[in-house]
Amino acid sequence: MFGRAPLKTSNSTRFYEVLGISVTATQEELKKAYRKAAIKNHPDKGGDPEKFKEISQAYEVLSDPEKRELYDQFGEDALKEGMMGGGGTTHNPFDIFESFFGSGGSPFGGRSSRGGHSQRRGDDVVHPLKVSLEDLYNGTTKKLSLARNVLCSKCKGKGSKTGASSRCAACQGSGMKVSIRQLGPGMIQQMQHVCPDCKGSGEVIHEKDKCPQCKGRKVMQDKKMLEVHIEKGMQNGQKITFQGEADEAPDTQTGDIVFVLQQKEHPKFKRKGDDLFVERTLTLTEALCGFHFALSHLDGRQLLIKTIPGEIIKPGQYKAISDEGMPHYQRPFMRGMLYIHFSINFPESGTLTTEQLEIIEDVLPQRSLDELTDMELDECEDTTLLDVNIDDEMRRKQQQQQHEAYEEEEDDYNGGPRAQCAQQ
Ligand SMILES: [Zn+2]
Ligand SMILES: [Zn+2]
Repeated sequence: MFGRAPLKTSNSTRFYEVLGISVTATQEELKKAYRKAAIKNHPDKGGDPEKFKEISQAYEVLSDPEKRELYDQFGEDALKEGMMGGGGTTHNPFDIFESFFGSGGSPFGGRSSRGGHSQRRGDDVVHPLKVSLEDLYNGTTKKLSLARNVLCSKCKGKGSKTGASSRCAACQGSGMKVSIRQLGPGMIQQMQHVCPDCKGSGEVIHEKDKCPQCKGRKVMQDKKMLEVHIEKGMQNGQKITFQGEADEAPDTQTGDIVFVLQQKEHPKFKRKGDDLFVERTLTLTEALCGFHFALSHLDGRQLLIKTIPGEIIKPGQYKAISDEGMPHYQRPFMRGMLYIHFSINFPESGTLTTEQLEIIEDVLPQRSLDELTDMELDECEDTTLLDVNIDDEMRRKQQQQQHEAYEEEEDDYNGGPRAQCAQQ
């Protein structure tokens, strides 16, 4: 059907794992596994609703041979895009459950129906929220004003004065329109989108019946002030969710507003987990003879950083201060480490006089010069040390090699037949 070898993608086994079956499981085994998992995880029996939804989703796909084939070959993405062979209808997990166990005889007895027909869920609105490392260290509250749709207060989201409406002719009242696109031989993509005429409601309101406040739109724009509490120790990428605060729409369960923290680069501190890193360059004198300096921390405190007398810091060495890293999220009295990474600036050539060099040589440990006899020196070849920038040097060499490899390939091509390049 697809004229292409089945490709196992990493995301085409999750549904099998969710149900705890092998990818070769038969429909019978699948049914059994689903039944067991569904009973164990059903929310009415105190199970996790998210887990239950996952199980239901997995069963929905794997129990349909066409969907299963698509999933096996292309993974979950194929299903999300609506690449369904037949019928792009989506089932509510609870409908599936119903159809599996029969709507009458619930295996759990007295399971109440979930308040009539299930509601559509509105989209979540995701906002990135830039924060400084200081914000994440100290914690802060950000006030944000957001525009959102709310149901019209006058018509309670009906859109009409009388509540009268008629079926949308463009979509026959379904609210959705389906378009079919040919992707290749024997493969079609079926896409569902919201009917533009009725905006998915499936109904139209006559001009004279329209609500004067919302003009039949059912919703009004509203400004809402949200206070986002950024807690000590929160991480870059962490989400802060305001449940049911996204756009309201008729017959729709309002989605969430989700803020995703984005930590701005800090000029001085780098963060890794709960640890902080800071770079410090010392002069050779400081590295050898000791130093002290004040480091202003993310909360404005000044830390005195100092060596023990006689201590020597080596190039590239790290030192650590405990409990001066980031506070742990939700346990802010615990903190990570603060690491200081030292670089050392050596004096430039020629800045020391011969006399000074003699003094230094006097105090530093003895040089370990190879003892060479005059005879041995005579036998050695003389050399000169050149100044180089090793990074530039290596880059130049690599470019040269690439160039040579390219020329060789060209030669091959001109020289006669060559192996077909395996292109992926
Ligand atoms: Zn209205
Ligand atoms: Zn319509």
